Amino acid sequence: MGRLDAKVACITGAGSGIGRATAELFAAEGATVVVQDLDLASAEETITRLVGAGHMSLGGDVSDEAAMNTVFEEIQGDHGRLDILVNNAGVFRLPGDGFDQVLAGEGPQIRHMGYEPFMRMLAIHVGGTFVCSRAAVPLMSDGGSVVNLSSIAGIAGWGPAHYAAAKGAILGLTRSLARELGPHRIRVNAVAPGVIDTPMVDDLDPAMLAPLIGMTPMGRTGEASEIASTILFLASDDGGFVTGQWISPNGGLITC
Ligand code: NAP
Repeated sequence: MGRLDAKVACITGAGSGIGRATAELFAAEGATVVVQDLDLASAEETITRLVGAGHMSLGGDVSDEAAMNTVFEEIQGDHGRLDILVNNAGVFRLPGDGFDQVLAGEGPQIRHMGYEPFMRMLAIHVGGTFVCSRAAVPLMSDGGSVVNLSSIAGIAGWGPAHYAAAKGAILGLTRSLARELGPHRIRVNAVAPGVIDTPMVDDLDPAMLAPLIGMTPMGRTGEASEIASTILFLASDDGGFVTGQWISPNGGLITC
């Protein structure tokens, strides 16, 4: 018996990294998984890795309100309900955000960060979490679980201003929705990973990561599968009385 038998779960940004690992684990635990990603081809690639049948892939930008409403209408049409939503889609860098100037030794980054990339980062992470959660709630009439991906950047400030602001806002949104949706038997929690070995991090200069890994008591980056198992705890009945909380799998990098 799997911990997610007969559950329908939607994971955004599941064409890569943590989202893909979570889709694999959820399917192994018996869930029917809706794999959503900006890049439909990568979502379809994830589907080929999942055990079990009935999984579906859907494309679209999580910050596009109309596109996400369509995604959840399709879930309603195909499955009739949703039990779990993982708001995972995200980016760390955007054109014009000043990161290139940091690499060139011209920091601090905020001096070079455009307003547009700042707001775009909020639109993807916070706007995406908002529109997907709002569209998912009517599908969770039997109760459900929402897990939002925050970051140590949103707790301790590591990471650039746009990303830290977005990941911090996700924690506030998580707490608010937990209070609002608790009476409707929908739990809402956040996972705030440390440095995790995914394509998002592959993109970064190892010299920038080395100090963070050096400050991590466990002395290594985390694996996507280690974040997936934390998400599973919150999504499943194992976390049945947990709502409005964040868990930070980070190897001890922050301990508050
Ligand atoms: P990843 O491997 O880059 O995966 C992110 C996925 O999200 C990609 O498939 C990406 O698609 C998709 N995506 C990006 N923008 C999207 C949008 N607007 N609409 C729909 N899908 C979109 O990164 P990851 O490390 O697994 O990150 C997953 C989540 O964990 C993110 O929210 C990230 O901020 C968070 N996180 C990661 C770390 C870490 O160290 N890796 C630490 C803390 C938190 P494309 O590839 O097509 O752009």
